[in-house]
Amino acid sequence: MLQTLSTFDLLVVGCDVLVRQDSRYIVVNDRDIAITGNRIAAISPAEAIDRAQAREVIDASGLLAIPGLINCHTHAPMVLFRGLAEDVTIESWFNDYIWPLESNEEPEDIYWGALLAIAEMIQSGVTTFADHYFFCDQIAEAVTESGMRANIGWAVFGHEGERKLDQTVAFAQRWQGGAGGRITTWLAPHSPYLCDRNFLALTAQRARALNTGIHIHCSETHDQVALSLKQHGVTPPALLQQAGVLDVPVLLAHGIGLTPEDIAMLKDYDVAVAQCPKTYMKLAMGTAPVRAMREAGIVVGIGTDGVVSSNTLDVLEQMRLLALDQKQAARDSTTMPLQEVLAIAFAGGAAALHLPDIGELAEGKLADIALLRQDGAHLFPRYDAIANLVYSARAGDVDTVICDGKLLMRYGRLLTIDLPRVKAEIARRLQRLNQRVAEKRLATYPT
Ligand SMILES: [Zn+2]
Repeated sequence: MLQTLSTFDLLVVGCDVLVRQDSRYIVVNDRDIAITGNRIAAISPAEAIDRAQAREVIDASGLLAIPGLINCHTHAPMVLFRGLAEDVTIESWFNDYIWPLESNEEPEDIYWGALLAIAEMIQSGVTTFADHYFFCDQIAEAVTESGMRANIGWAVFGHEGERKLDQTVAFAQRWQGGAGGRITTWLAPHSPYLCDRNFLALTAQRARALNTGIHIHCSETHDQVALSLKQHGVTPPALLQQAGVLDVPVLLAHGIGLTPEDIAMLKDYDVAVAQCPKTYMKLAMGTAPVRAMREAGIVVGIGTDGVVSSNTLDVLEQMRLLALDQKQAARDSTTMPLQEVLAIAFAGGAAALHLPDIGELAEGKLADIALLRQDGAHLFPRYDAIANLVYSARAGDVDTVICDGKLLMRYGRLLTIDLPRVKAEIARRLQRLNQRVAEKRLATYPT
């Protein structure tokens, strides 16, 4: 049989594309996106590329192509507990719900939980997530099978000791560069309030030896900052600095309580801050000084946090809430304009995870693409496609998702995850998983 050699593996035809030009995001219309291997080979005016040159063609007419969304901070398998801790204080959220519930988890639960979370993220246009959780081999397996991209850190508490820390280090070594390069691993001490200075210093030492980064919760509330000042005489970021944590790339989750002095200090380090505003509003934690961080040059990205606080893994929703929360807190409707929201979501997310080849649709970048329908009543008229994306689009508008050049969802159908099976596997575990025995909790939130 005569074999013809295809120039492109995938050709996405006839879509609008969100691109960055001279530091501004714009939408260009009627384009074809050609993909070879795991990278974007060309973005050309529609029909400039001969369809016969492609092994597979995706009809994307009417769709908007955006870079695959980046979830910079989550605890993916917490989907297992969705809706179990509502309308409670942050102390009760940790001590009466999360840590007793998490003591029920077994490795296989995490595998199925991760798959459910990944299915939800793919359906929401997310192609990369930074996970901070336990039993990470199972998460890495779910990432491998599903085709997603992930930065994974095995969460560890100071009271678990050096041996446990080294088990998390071994995980990081085992999976660094895994799944054909789609997995990166960082270390993930829980927080300065549950890891003392010595433990943080040990973690920093291990991260330096591995040449990897650290993903950690920090200054999540103003109360945590007050407690740190009382116990250690310094703020949580200053404690991280003293322990050497800031000598490696660091991703801080939340930073609501960052002081002007913290920001002035952090800007000289390789530090990024993940923002998950839905959690902050839900647990009444306050609003992070995002404007001050950005003005100081600190990288900011968007996360969803775990589903027990945010209820969804929907990055579009978090983008919208970030803008709204920042405007409201500043009493300034001009703050956090559309361009800045996109810069945080895409360029910020890529920089926060040290993955410079994601977060932008351009020749040579990794082919991580979400294609959104634009035909819903809520998206018409389309005077401003970017305003529609930030303030009107819904996760349900996501139609087709490509990660690392491979289709993960086509025309609304998941291709790599058997969602009914995942739900059935989780359903039969729920009764065991939702028991809450206070004495079994993994840790205690300090007050
Ligand atoms: Zn978190």
